[in-house]
Amino acid sequence: MLAELKGLNEECGVFGIWGHENAAQIAYYGLHSLQHRGQEGTGIVVTDGRQLKGKKGEGLVTEVFSKNAIQELEGNSAIGHVRYATAGGGGYENVQPLLFNSQNGSLALAHNGNLVNANNLKHQLEGQGSIFQTSSDTEVLAHLIRRSGFSQLKDQVKNALSMLKGAYAFLIMTETEMMVALDPHGLRPLSLGLLGDAYVVASETCAFDIIGAEFVRDVLPGELLIINDDGIQSEMFTINSNTALCAMEYVYFSRPDSNVNGINVHTARKSLGKQLATEAPIKADVVTGVPDSSISAAIGYAEAAGIPYEMGLIKNRYVGRTFIQPSQSLREQGVKMKLSPVRGVVEGKRVIMVDDSIVRGTTSRRIVTMLKEAGATEVHVVISSPPIKNPCFYGIDTSSSEELIASDKSVEQIREIIGADSLTFLSVDGLVKAVGSEGEGETKGRCLACFTGKYPTEIYPEEMATGRKC
Ligand code: SF4
Repeated sequence: MLAELKGLNEECGVFGIWGHENAAQIAYYGLHSLQHRGQEGTGIVVTDGRQLKGKKGEGLVTEVFSKNAIQELEGNSAIGHVRYATAGGGGYENVQPLLFNSQNGSLALAHNGNLVNANNLKHQLEGQGSIFQTSSDTEVLAHLIRRSGFSQLKDQVKNALSMLKGAYAFLIMTETEMMVALDPHGLRPLSLGLLGDAYVVASETCAFDIIGAEFVRDVLPGELLIINDDGIQSEMFTINSNTALCAMEYVYFSRPDSNVNGINVHTARKSLGKQLATEAPIKADVVTGVPDSSISAAIGYAEAAGIPYEMGLIKNRYVGRTFIQPSQSLREQGVKMKLSPVRGVVEGKRVIMVDDSIVRGTTSRRIVTMLKEAGATEVHVVISSPPIKNPCFYGIDTSSSEELIASDKSVEQIREIIGADSLTFLSVDGLVKAVGSEGEGETKGRCLACFTGKYPTEIYPEEMATGRKC
């Protein structure tokens, strides 16, 4: 599904490189490959060993960085960020990396995820005299680091991380060091690679493929990596790690060519489609997927059901970003601008339409209507994830519960609203089985909270009302 139409958006991607003469240029390519994780703003900070220098701006990577701008970012190490801003959290000052200067040196921070106790911490810090420049969670970490009282940066960072709750993949850079930290649940993906002798880190492995880097391993939940000219060091900053990687990374967010915690995303989505076919066998003539993120699942469904996969919907790739608008009316118009049914494929056919999720239901209704107007005799909607009933507090911009159609409506009620001949969601067990497990327990190392309401961390719902995000 098209992210900007669905109302379900990833919030940020991070990229870092240590020890390469073209650090800024490589960061540019890495961030470009992570653009799907955030389109509202981007930035790169470099170090030449003596000082940090950065550029950031609102817009896409290609809009913010010209060739000259990249050339001016001289240095052999860099961290970068792509950001999706939510209501109340936009604006230039919140675009990352955030750069802080103090008598003790400079610090740049890039964050993917969302802290659930940021407001509590912020109130405490303000009570102690801290002044915040942004409404972003990320700044909280900078204040905690500077106030920790330890002399070594590593200890300052470990102490600060121990106070955070929620989802975070952090890149922290000083003039002479880069630190990489993943929250104790590993809610967001983060991988380590090598480009020659240079260390690279990225939210997704597709960034490594683009720059020709070799994947080394995934960063572990609760791990702190310290990278400098002497090499790499790994430490655990907590013993209470318990993997709960966001299941939606497989369903929807990550790129199909990325491997998330060792599992290829396209393959995982195909498995979701296959599992759906066993849970929802339907008599039909063709299977189609909503481009782009549902195509892999549709192929899997078609293979398992023995029904031909056809391109029943195409995406118009040349619609400008001006169509990315928050209001419902523009969102509905946007569906028509961005997707078209292929009449020659669906006319006179019973169509199975595979989509990855339903958030508000508006887009699904539009697509079902389009397919019927194009001559489909039946439209059966199958969804490669369970109903999203609960909001996400970990950096995914799901709507509030009131806007989630499945929060208070049954599957049959949703079917009626979207006008489908049948509607099936994947079961929670089916999702875990298809994607593969990692760890023990009911959730097998996955966060499934938006489906089940069982959050892997404490949550502070009152905090989230501000719309403050990474
Ligand atoms: S609540 Fe849902 S979207 Fe948020 S991290 Fe968990 S699985 Fe992912």
